[in-house]
Amino acid sequence: MLDLNVRLVSILGVLTVIVLLGLTLDYLGKLQRPFRLGLWVALLGIAAGGLFTFMAVRPVGHFYGPVFSELKTAQKVVALTFDDGPYPPYTDQILDILKEARVPATFFVVGLNAQKYPDLLRRIVAEGHQVGNHTYHHLDLLKADSVAISKEVDSTNATIMDITGKGTLLVRPPHGFRDALVMEMMAERKLSVVEWSVASRDWTNPGVETIVDRTLSKVKNGAIILLHDGDGVEQAASRAQTVEATRRIIRELKAEGYTFVTVSEILKPED
Ligand SMILES: [Zn+2]
Repeated sequence: MLDLNVRLVSILGVLTVIVLLGLTLDYLGKLQRPFRLGLWVALLGIAAGGLFTFMAVRPVGHFYGPVFSELKTAQKVVALTFDDGPYPPYTDQILDILKEARVPATFFVVGLNAQKYPDLLRRIVAEGHQVGNHTYHHLDLLKADSVAISKEVDSTNATIMDITGKGTLLVRPPHGFRDALVMEMMAERKLSVVEWSVASRDWTNPGVETIVDRTLSKVKNGAIILLHDGDGVEQAASRAQTVEATRRIIRELKAEGYTFVTVSEILKPED
């Protein structure tokens, strides 16, 4: 775990200088004996840059701080999560399916979309689902400074509170991207950072069958499943495939004996 609040972009900047220095020394024929030190430093710098970036974008791993991607449990429980909404008519359609199946889920909402469709957010809460913060403009937090991160997160929490009368202690950074500063700022706000263990890339609309198959093949006890009822702030893409896939995923997982919980329930320590 990295405790310094150094931005990923700063780390990559320093590593780029080191790589260029190493390559320059090697090119000039310096420090080549007993081995090509400059070249090796450059290669190590590239590898380190790849590692720091990989840790910032992969949904599992505690390199920059603790995240919740799944729960290690022997119980057959899973959590369905829906990102980027509210987004009519898809959020409504998913809520209808959840209601009929009596399945709770967690919705990581974009603040701007919640502001646009407050009734949909109220319906999510009224029907017993959980709400999490997914920033106000679906901003890539790796590219945002601390002021922008504060605004994005705090305004979304305030919006959720205004509309529903309840705050949230859950946040999912857009794309799951985070670095040391992002994690520190979430910790200051006592927000749990929630990632996922099962992604079907439903946001690319690969076909209902593909979304269902990819999801079911990766599900295990304690899984957090990522799906999308929305589409960033653009709200351009259809989410009809996700709606239909959700219906089938619930049916299949129920048949396999899974029960569904909200993210907060999955984060509780095992009994
Ligand atoms: Zn998102």
